[in-house]
Amino acid sequence: MTVLADLDAEQRNAATTLRGPVCVMAGAGTGKTRVITRRIAHGVDTGAYSPNRMMAVTFTAKAAGEMRGRLRQLGVAGVSARTFHSAALAQLNFFWPQVSGGENAPSIIDNKVRLLAHATEGIGMSLSTPALRDIASEIEWRKVQMRTISQYAATGRSAAHLSTEAMTRVQHAYEKLKDERRQLDFEDVLLACAGMIEAEPRVAAAIREQYRHFTVDEYQDVSPLQHHLLKLWLGERRDICVVGDASQTIFSFAGADNRYLLDFGREYPDATVVKLERNYRSDGAILAVANDLMRGREGALTLVSAKPDSVATPTVTAYETEHDEAAGVALAIRKQIQQGISPASIAVLYRAQAQSAPLLQALAAQGIACTVMGGRRFFDIPEVRSAVLKLRGAAVAPNNHGFLPTVRTVLAEDGLTETPPEAGGALRDAWEARRALLRLAEEAPPTTTLSAFAEDLLARSKDQHEPVLQTVTLATLHAAKGLEWNHVHSVGWSEGLLPISYAQGFDAVDEERRLAYVGVTRAAQSLSLSWARGEGRQRRSPSRFLQEIGSRSLRAVGTAGRVAGASR
Ligand code: ATP
Ligand code: MG
Repeated sequence: MTVLADLDAEQRNAATTLRGPVCVMAGAGTGKTRVITRRIAHGVDTGAYSPNRMMAVTFTAKAAGEMRGRLRQLGVAGVSARTFHSAALAQLNFFWPQVSGGENAPSIIDNKVRLLAHATEGIGMSLSTPALRDIASEIEWRKVQMRTISQYAATGRSAAHLSTEAMTRVQHAYEKLKDERRQLDFEDVLLACAGMIEAEPRVAAAIREQYRHFTVDEYQDVSPLQHHLLKLWLGERRDICVVGDASQTIFSFAGADNRYLLDFGREYPDATVVKLERNYRSDGAILAVANDLMRGREGALTLVSAKPDSVATPTVTAYETEHDEAAGVALAIRKQIQQGISPASIAVLYRAQAQSAPLLQALAAQGIACTVMGGRRFFDIPEVRSAVLKLRGAAVAPNNHGFLPTVRTVLAEDGLTETPPEAGGALRDAWEARRALLRLAEEAPPTTTLSAFAEDLLARSKDQHEPVLQTVTLATLHAAKGLEWNHVHSVGWSEGLLPISYAQGFDAVDEERRLAYVGVTRAAQSLSLSWARGEGRQRRSPSRFLQEIGSRSLRAVGTAGRVAGASR
């Protein structure tokens, strides 16, 4: 039983309970994702599951990819590991023509805010982009809560200071325009899929015939709509395994609800409920920080490290400005890389994507390559596409005769310049892209010709895969969930950034605390927190979460050459 060999007793209990409802409720890093992967592999090995009848749902495309990778390593192929969204979309595209007399499924809108802008202009309203964004997220909330527009109006909620009546008009205009264009938005995909299964018994039967067993990772962040769809997929059957951690609920603002996890035992009274006790990811010193953050919170579990005694106490550093902070982090990362630490095992985590700009600059100044998770896809950058197409037509000299100068020239022609740009945004993307392309060219095997290299890149772009580079990862705390790195730098631990300024009220701040907890628990070996005082109107004070972490768990360090002072 090789797939079970390195599981502890509780993990094994969950992984070998192949039938009926199973729920694993456990803290960060205790092996929940490992358990569901092994359970699938064990089920396939023993013949209990046929892989193509298993649907493994995860929350992000990246997590789905990792799940497929882990299964492949265990020798399991053919399992559907998807996000709710991609599973629903595939079903919609497949069955729509059958139920509509041959029509294709509507297309998906790529920019909700833009459509909303058209819709509101159409009814004589002119709204700012931030206002439109607010409205778009309310529409998202309404849909994942499965409320009609009038039910939504009855909640008294609104956005962008619109009256209930105006908000209702805006939403009707948006839905109407979308219908006229035969388009669906992101949430419509799940709604339409659910609606199709409910309305068409043949479709329901076909889907239930195809998928017999279900697992869901990160179940604490399931929304009412996703829960509804899952129930429709299941039908009368009960072959469902969910794993989650209520302390890591970080999407309630978007309609997620951890009561589905907490109430699983009530929904399925015969469920096997497994608790995992030991954290296999992080050093004890890191878990002390995580435990301090959660102490006294409802239902919080104390994490206990399975690793031997740890050495390094996590640190917190106060900087004067955000740029000092970024420079400090980049310098620390350079030192780590010089010590032989692989860049791929290092991550920098932040609350808001905008915080990545000074970090990118500082890392570039140190010559450190990085990948921003959730950023634009590499091959979607127009300059990259154009450069690769040109390279395909360029010289045939193999790499050992040195095609790098040609690559440099072509990149420069396409505006992919040598000097790092001052500002963020598109230019910075163009520059990052250049470095990545050059690195790929450097790594090309000696006998590869330039045109073969370009063909290879084009093939990869069709594969929808990012170039595999050994780089430092930059990610928001939301995007980092479920993932792990040996060394984590978490920046922006100040009031206004973490908790973020618009998190008002107890529940919102508590969600920010869970987000901080998710960040801290990504680290396996070392954890460095930091924050910046900022200047003028941007003046900030240390995060309240820092005060909650005991001084024994976190060592305050000053920054070189400055009197940064202790943060607490
Ligand atoms: P999260 O809550 O962050 O999603 P998780 O509970 O899903 O975490 P995993 O990612 O499955 O945890 O596991 C955390 C780390 O611990 C991984 O590196 C995993 O390989 C390792 N691990 C899990 N179980 C064991 C075990 N029994 N022995 C050794 N290592 C383990
Ligand atoms: Mg996990």
